[in-house]
Amino acid sequence: MRTEQAQRHFWLPVPNEKVPGGVRHAFPGPRWDGLPSADSVCGKHVALAQPSEVDWIYFPTCAECNSRLKSR
Ligand SMILES: [Zn+2]
Repeated sequence: MRTEQAQRHFWLPVPNEKVPGGVRHAFPGPRWDGLPSADSVCGKHVALAQPSEVDWIYFPTCAECNSRLKSR
């Protein structure tokens, strides 16, 4: 997973149990295929669900995912 293929990723809003709202994490792969959970680029194993439009608007981008993708 250290080749060009690893650069393929998608973003998905993930509700957070600890703080109200959630964070938009990046995940390896071309798109979310309906998996109930996945490992984010920043190394968290999180539950996935179909996000609402509000989630897309209000959930901030995960800084850790962002920096890891940029450093590749
Ligand atoms: Zn993240």
